[in-house]
Amino acid sequence: MTELKKVVDPGQRTHLEIHEIGTVESVRKFIVLASGIPSCVNGQIVDFENGSRGIVMGFKEDYVQILVISLGGEIRNGDKIYNRAEPLCLPVGEQFLGRIVSGICEPVDEKGPVKADALFPLFFDAPGIMDRAPVEKTLETGTVALDAGIPIGLGQRQLLIGDRLTGKTTVAVDAILNQKHTGVICIYCCIGKPYAGLLRVVQILNERGAMPYTIVVSGISPAPVAEQYLAPYAACMLGEYFMQMGRDVLVVFDDLSKHAWVYRQISLLLERAPGREAYPGDIFYIHSQLVERAGYLKKELQGGSMTFLPIVEILQGDVTGYISTNLISMTDGQIYFNAGLFTKGIRPAVDFGLSVSRIGSKAQWPAMREVSKSLRIEYLHYQELLQMSQIRTSGLSKEAEARLKRGAALAAILNQDRHAPQRVEEEIFVLHALNTGLLDLLTAEQIKKFKTEFFSFVSSSAPELIQSLRKEKKLTQEIREKLDQKLKEHFNNLSV
Ligand code: ATP
Ligand code: MG
Repeated sequence: MTELKKVVDPGQRTHLEIHEIGTVESVRKFIVLASGIPSCVNGQIVDFENGSRGIVMGFKEDYVQILVISLGGEIRNGDKIYNRAEPLCLPVGEQFLGRIVSGICEPVDEKGPVKADALFPLFFDAPGIMDRAPVEKTLETGTVALDAGIPIGLGQRQLLIGDRLTGKTTVAVDAILNQKHTGVICIYCCIGKPYAGLLRVVQILNERGAMPYTIVVSGISPAPVAEQYLAPYAACMLGEYFMQMGRDVLVVFDDLSKHAWVYRQISLLLERAPGREAYPGDIFYIHSQLVERAGYLKKELQGGSMTFLPIVEILQGDVTGYISTNLISMTDGQIYFNAGLFTKGIRPAVDFGLSVSRIGSKAQWPAMREVSKSLRIEYLHYQELLQMSQIRTSGLSKEAEARLKRGAALAAILNQDRHAPQRVEEEIFVLHALNTGLLDLLTAEQIKKFKTEFFSFVSSSAPELIQSLRKEKKLTQEIREKLDQKLKEHFNNLSV
């Protein structure tokens, strides 16, 4: 049945809207087949007679396939269904900061309703090429191995890939903790994980005072499948609101392998033929549609940015799986977490051999670029040399011994405790100290101590040095001299 309805738009103009009223033909778990609403389009919202809502997921010859996103009661065959011809729009706004919301932006933290500033479409088009600007700033992740070795640019999409329990979430959460002083808005989106996993992250965000600038989108595994499926789009949409206001946003998707799994469940119920590894054929599109929404907007569009850190879990180090290769091909680089390194005690267990950042180093601070020029290669050489030296116990050349010492110092610098992000200035100071050779004779324990003590020594005795490095972003003659002077003083104090 089709009905014409008079609608007054915000500009006080009146127009007629076609409202179709259809019928529910069958209900299978969270999928409904309906007839009589032929003009609806994919991704739009439909309302049920009992107050439930759904989105259009696809079409069969005579039926429209609908995914139920909120239940207002039991849906039965023969119920009426209304096609409002509207895309799915959800609330966004400043008040969402500090809150935990579901995949359809409803608060789930028992802190009451959230006042929305606007309604945004959930499936929004990615910014076009003409709207974008080149990536020119880095995201300060607070993890030395990333900031120095695999830098991430603002607006970039960097995949965190690795086996179970290799420290992926920890690195992403540390990146959020580190935004406390940078003004970057953070969104942590949990998909298909158990409640305990989300609780752990929220707890640490609360403890470290990161919630005021963070939104948590919860698509945990006990939540309805539709919410788990929509959670990453909701996270992205919440970020778009801030990006369009010229803010920088970081979104963590934890994790997209679970998202693919959820979509596979939905697809099978929609009776779509499974493709490779039993995933639906359009899973590539589903994920690329999401990750394309990251970017750096040009100045005329306020110059905001949205950086994505999607996480993907693999099995036994096999990066050739369907979902992981898809995601590798649609992101700007990947950070590979190696289970072997993790068991050896290396934290974070980043494998420099298999990790890449395609644009990050261009956006690095010149000072960081200078001090970390050969870091990756030196570290990989060191690991090779270390293996060889374990086989050959004698006869190492002087040069090899010196390399081993420098490598051990570098390894001690890269090793970092969880939830202890470092400032870029701190990382530059330590890497500069390493390059001067001052750390070669110290033990790993002494280097760990040096990392914290030296920065607090400079903070108290010469805070202007830190400020001028942040301002200049490069090691000018003056900064370098002052830094060397401070290093000398610090080591003199130690030996007294
Ligand atoms: P999952 O597959 O369950 O999502 P994951 O890859 O996200 O795991 P995490 O949960 O981040 O891994 O970390 C696994 C364990 O290792 C946690 O107990 C975490 O506290 C510990 N861990 C990770 N990084 C560090 C670190 N730098 N220092 C000490 N412990 C760490
Ligand atoms: Mg995790």
